[in-house]
Amino acid sequence: MRSICYSFSTIFDKIIKRQIPAKIIYEDKHCLAFEDINPKAKIHVLVIPKEHLDRLSNATEQHINLLGNLMYAVNRVGRQLQLEGYRVVINDGQKGGQTVFHLHAHILSGENLPGFE
Ligand code: 5GP
Repeated sequence: MRSICYSFSTIFDKIIKRQIPAKIIYEDKHCLAFEDINPKAKIHVLVIPKEHLDRLSNATEQHINLLGNLMYAVNRVGRQLQLEGYRVVINDGQKGGQTVFHLHAHILSGENLPGFE
């Protein structure tokens, strides 16, 4: 009988396992936050759940706590960095601009971000 091997080896899983370096700025039991390698704002932090979920649209009822913990970690990062305001972005799927398939929230801050008008 063939066994199924679930391999979650995105770059973010490697950061969680400290197999590749990252500028980690926050960690709790459920989440990790680190600086984006290619910042799109003066402050650009990525917040990820430690448990693997590839994308927001694949979340189920089982992931409600994970999603809550992710948003709470965003809140903690904002407070830790004393951000006056920030934008939170989650790209979902290729057509949503997602390139790393481990759920993550972008925190963009440190400058006046344009509104959506
Ligand atoms: P996405 O396009 O999937 O929403 O966002 C992926 C983000 O991950 C991009 O902003 C990209 O710059 C960042 N990124 C990709 N590879 C690495 C890496 O190895 N280290 C860090 N810190 N960020 C990365």
